[in-house]
Amino acid sequence: MNRELPTISEIIEMIKNGTASPDGVCRSFLSRAENDALGAFITLTADAALDAASAVGERLSRGENLPLAGVPVAVKDNICTAGVRCTCASKMLENFIPTYSATAWERLRAAGAVLVGKTNLDEFAMGSSGETSFFGAVKNPYGPARVAGGSSSGSAAAVAAGYAAAALGSDTGGSSRLPASFCGLVALKPTYGTVSRFGLVSFAPSLEQICPMTLTVCDAELIYRVIAGRDPKDMTSTDPGPAGGRRTADMKIALWSPPGVTDDVRGALRAAADMLASSGASVTEIDSFFDPAEAAAVYMAISSAEASSTLSRYDGIRFGFSAGSPEKTRGDGFGKGVIDRLLTGAYVLTEDGGSRYRRALSRRAALTAAAEEMTSRYDVILMPVACSAAHRPGEGMGPAEDGYSDVANLSGMPSLAVPVKQNGDGLPVGVGLLAGRFREADLFAAGRAIERARGRFPRPVGEVV
Ligand code: GLN
Repeated sequence: MNRELPTISEIIEMIKNGTASPDGVCRSFLSRAENDALGAFITLTADAALDAASAVGERLSRGENLPLAGVPVAVKDNICTAGVRCTCASKMLENFIPTYSATAWERLRAAGAVLVGKTNLDEFAMGSSGETSFFGAVKNPYGPARVAGGSSSGSAAAVAAGYAAAALGSDTGGSSRLPASFCGLVALKPTYGTVSRFGLVSFAPSLEQICPMTLTVCDAELIYRVIAGRDPKDMTSTDPGPAGGRRTADMKIALWSPPGVTDDVRGALRAAADMLASSGASVTEIDSFFDPAEAAAVYMAISSAEASSTLSRYDGIRFGFSAGSPEKTRGDGFGKGVIDRLLTGAYVLTEDGGSRYRRALSRRAALTAAAEEMTSRYDVILMPVACSAAHRPGEGMGPAEDGYSDVANLSGMPSLAVPVKQNGDGLPVGVGLLAGRFREADLFAAGRAIERARGRFPRPVGEVV
């Protein structure tokens, strides 16, 4: 089977020069998505996708200019798309059909993108492995005995397996970058506020952003430029930073390869550093930055506290599942992982637990200051996304599992995950790039330099795709 998947830029080009039609592109992605063997989708919207693709074809023939004409996109099932159920992979919202769309999806749709379906995730985006979904776990296209990473597990699996050309994920503490890293993809966690959160089902609003997940850096930038920008429906939203980045030859890059990561990750960091150096960047190794276990603990206290407030709306009266009393509704409607977070969150907001929350807020400020200091000295920090390549179901990665990616969410800084190599088992290993707020352009420039030196990342092989 031919595993070369077209990038968004290639799809746009093929449609522009007439070698493909939106309808043909849509059918080709659907032919794979309809045989989803990975559990990537919760809801496939095949018929609506074909109608949308034909409508895009008609708009093009009327001479309309659509920057993403006919690009098939999958959307994480915690991002609302009007008229299609949005479950958050929870029994609580199993039958919830939103009447409005998230601004990020609305902007993609207006640009000509076609919705293929809604993707699986850890319940309410809480998790790092894609195993806590009410609808079942997601498998990794590079090895079905491995997890796809989470929480945007289905979005990652869908793009890596060619079910969609791009996906939207969300990232509260690494949830787009970690599965991207496990599935050989690029993901951007944008500067806080540059992508509207309107229509993203809230988990921890001070941390999260909607993210592009794509095959290439160029594709991530194409999606980002369409979805970014102030939205009157989200008062925390703001315009993005400038598009033109520095040349890598003018960049100072810090390499942080901490002791707590596997040899796979260390090897990927070293390889990426060499690639950046060969493009002219000056790369300096640093030995300390922050403690990932502490970042993970701070993240957990703050995100759980926010979740105990944002998820209080699921009481069986206003949305979705109801089991009679609010207590029984919540006990039966949420999975164990979500309930544990809500209890933690409620506790840290009590008088007894409050010192933990206050300490987390002050450590958040200290971590942010450390990240600001580091990004004032270097244009880009090259660092781990996860501690390892994709693990087996049930294994987890230990207390610091998201610690490396959490710092971008705690500080509001942008961070890009880029795949670098495959390990001995053929599993992808990615690296993370961190820059100061509104410096996405530098991340894209550094990411493209890695891609140029690396060449096309190999697509998965095997029966699943
Ligand atoms: N793994 C983290 C958690 O479980 C991050 C989740 C996310 O980014 N949505 O909370």
